[in-house]
Amino acid sequence: MEWFWYLMVFVFGAIIGSFLNVVIYRFNTGKSLEGRSHCLSCGHTLSWYELIPVVSYLGLRGHCRHCHASVPARYIFVEVGMGILFVLFWMSFSHVLPLFALYAISSAILVVIFVHDLRHMIIPDSLVVALGIVALVILSYITWSTGGGYMVALEHIGAGLGAGIFFFAFWFFSKGRAMGLGDAKLAIPLGIIVGPLGAPAMIIGAFWVGAIVSLVILAFQKVAGTGKTQLPFLRTPLKMKSEIPFAPFLILAFWYVVLFHADIYTLINLFVF
Ligand SMILES: [Zn+2]
Repeated sequence: MEWFWYLMVFVFGAIIGSFLNVVIYRFNTGKSLEGRSHCLSCGHTLSWYELIPVVSYLGLRGHCRHCHASVPARYIFVEVGMGILFVLFWMSFSHVLPLFALYAISSAILVVIFVHDLRHMIIPDSLVVALGIVALVILSYITWSTGGGYMVALEHIGAGLGAGIFFFAFWFFSKGRAMGLGDAKLAIPLGIIVGPLGAPAMIIGAFWVGAIVSLVILAFQKVAGTGKTQLPFLRTPLKMKSEIPFAPFLILAFWYVVLFHADIYTLINLFVF
C-alpha cells in the first residue's frame, strides 16, 4: 500500500501546482485569485474536467478545447514538478510531518519565484519575505528538535546572512551584471534553512547548475545555427555576457541540498577518491 500514499502525495502536489499556476499568472497583475479559470485566448470558462491537474493537459494535448490555442508548457511543468517535489519531500521527511509541510510550503513559494524570475527577471520582495517567515519557522523546528539551543539558531542565521553577503558582493562588484540584488535577498532565507554546512554546497551547486544549463543552451543555439533562441522561456538569444535569471539555479541547488542532505563535505567527497 506504500505506492498508494506516494500516488496520493503526488496528486496533492499536482493540485497545489495547479493552484500555483493561477497564482503565477495573476501575480502582480492586479487580478484577484478568485473567479473561475478560463482560457487565456478565447475566454471560455473551464469546466471541472478541464481543470484536473496533469490529466486535463495531457488529455487535451496542451490545447484549449474550444479555440485550440496552446496552453503554455509551464502549466504542466509546474503541476508535475510540484507532484514530484512533494513525493521527494515525503520520502525525505515522512517520519516528520511538520517538516514535510514546512518544506512543501517553502517550495510552493519557491516555484512562483522560479517561474517569475524566468519570465520577468525579477524576484518579488513580497515572496522573499514570505519565504523568510517560513525559514524562521523551519529554523525554530530544527533548533527545538535537535535541542541545539541558540547556538544552532545563530549558526543558521549566520549562514543566511553569509550567503546573502556573498551574492550582494557579486552584485556590487559586477555592478548588477553578474547577479541581481534579488538573488542576494533570496539567498538569505535559503541559507537560514540549509545552515552553515549546506549553504556553501548550495552556492557552489547553483554555479554548477548555472554553468551546465548555460553551456547546453549555448551549444543548442550553435547547433540550431541562427543564434536565435529555440527555447520558449528565453526572450532573447543567450550570449556569453547575457543577463540570465539566477534564482532558478539557486532554487534547484537548494532542493538538491535539502533532499539529499548534501553539505560542503559531500561536495568535497565527490572529488576525493
Ligand atoms: Zn480557448
